[in-house]
Amino acid sequence: MRFCCVGAGFSGAVIARRLAEAGHQVLVIDERPHLGGNCHTERDAATGIMLHRYGPHIFHTADREVWDFVNRFARMMPYVNRVKAISGGRVYSLPVNLHTINQFFGATMNPREAQDFIAGQARRDIAEPANFEEQALSMVGDALYRAFFRGYTRKQWGLDPTELPASILKRLPLRFNYDDNYFNHPFQGMPEEGYTAIVAGILNAPGIELRLGCRFEEIGEDLAHVFYTGPLDRYFAYRLGRLGYRTLDFEEIRAEGDYLGTAVMNYCDEDVPFTRISEHKHFAPWEAGRFEGTVCFREYSRLAGAGDIPYYPIRLVGEKKMLADYVALARQARGVSFVGRLGTYRYLDMDVTIREAMDAATMTLARLREGAPPPPFFLDPLGQEGKPAVPAQSSPALAPAGPRRDAPAPVPGVSRGAGQRLKEAANR
Ligand SMILES: Cc1cc2nc3c(=O)[nH]c(=O)nc-3n(C[C@H](O)[C@H](O)[C@H](O)COP(=O)(O)OP(=O)(O)OC[C@H]3O[C@@H](n4cnc5c(N)ncnc54)[C@H](O)[C@@H]3O)c2cc1C
Repeated sequence: MRFCCVGAGFSGAVIARRLAEAGHQVLVIDERPHLGGNCHTERDAATGIMLHRYGPHIFHTADREVWDFVNRFARMMPYVNRVKAISGGRVYSLPVNLHTINQFFGATMNPREAQDFIAGQARRDIAEPANFEEQALSMVGDALYRAFFRGYTRKQWGLDPTELPASILKRLPLRFNYDDNYFNHPFQGMPEEGYTAIVAGILNAPGIELRLGCRFEEIGEDLAHVFYTGPLDRYFAYRLGRLGYRTLDFEEIRAEGDYLGTAVMNYCDEDVPFTRISEHKHFAPWEAGRFEGTVCFREYSRLAGAGDIPYYPIRLVGEKKMLADYVALARQARGVSFVGRLGTYRYLDMDVTIREAMDAATMTLARLREGAPPPPFFLDPLGQEGKPAVPAQSSPALAPAGPRRDAPAPVPGVSRGAGQRLKEAANR
């Protein structure tokens, strides 16, 4: 019997590779017709531009091992994410930095003066912020909050910032220098031939069989163990209800030449219905000059319905309650581990996804040596604070998200049958 990874995104691919390298047979399936999960990239047939099909992805990490791992499968090209934003009819640089502050207030402050100035803007009467809005006001004051945080957050989450927890804004993406690199991580880049090529490379190993266009619900094969990277609620046929997600609609724009003049432009004003526009040839600056045409996408955020692609887990109080119930169900299930962004209902950057998948594989191999099954979760999906988690570059309202690691979940008792099956698989 072999293992199965449901999902050919980074989570499924990395686990499959590590198990295959240890001598196991692994079936990898994905219902989509392509590899890469939500990181999927492909060349546009008309222009040849590399498109990020499920939204722009920029690789950034502080994890040396993860960086070395992706560099085994791709030539990582230099890429720095420099985001621009339109607010009140003017263009600014993000994250809010000294240039933004000086432009916005029509000043020429130095770092010290700007710090003192922003401290003076902050609302000192809010001693204990009760929500996102109060937290922002207590940190930057009304003017910057309204210009860069309020409208964007309302569009991204479909909620008023007074309904979001204060804990989202523990740190502000605010810089008192002219550094406009969106990320702080030491390793940043863009794969020369896109992310799908990386995933293809990871999956290109003896012992791995790949089946695309295949739903887990349809495979009638006896499996040693399943690593499920699909939605947790879907595994249980939504029997407790649907976990809430935000989804995205992408509206394509085709033009000649240069449309934005940059890769990402955020639109902070609430009367503009979309959150941002991305121009994909600028994600590959080393080849942008080759293309006469250009392809951009306007991005609209809304609550996910039953048939929509789940993008951002909402993780507010109601969702956390349902999540806890699904986690309880999952802890009783046998023969399956839930991993990745959908399996654990968390926002995960690619580097964290890869790290968690590597750790899951390591833990699995250790348990197999003992004849024990892998746990339902390799970390506790409830361990995060009850906050919506969004990627840094898509929301100027939030601090760049560092790698998130939770404590490993307690491992439940091993059923004899499962242990036996795994021993057999381990001996193969
Ligand atoms: C808009 C957006 C922008 C992002 N930008 C960045 C960024 O700039 N930098 C960064 O580091 N991260 C970014 N991310 C995060 C990144 O997309 C995730 O880290 C990554 O996709 C997680 O990989 P995964 O394998 O866990 O999940 P996924 O990529 O979602 O893969 C899961 C796969 O499982 C398949 N599947 C699910 N259920 C089934 C089933 N029942 N049967 C068969 N197949 C199934 C799906 O088709 C999917 O292909 C972004 C995310 C979003 C939403």
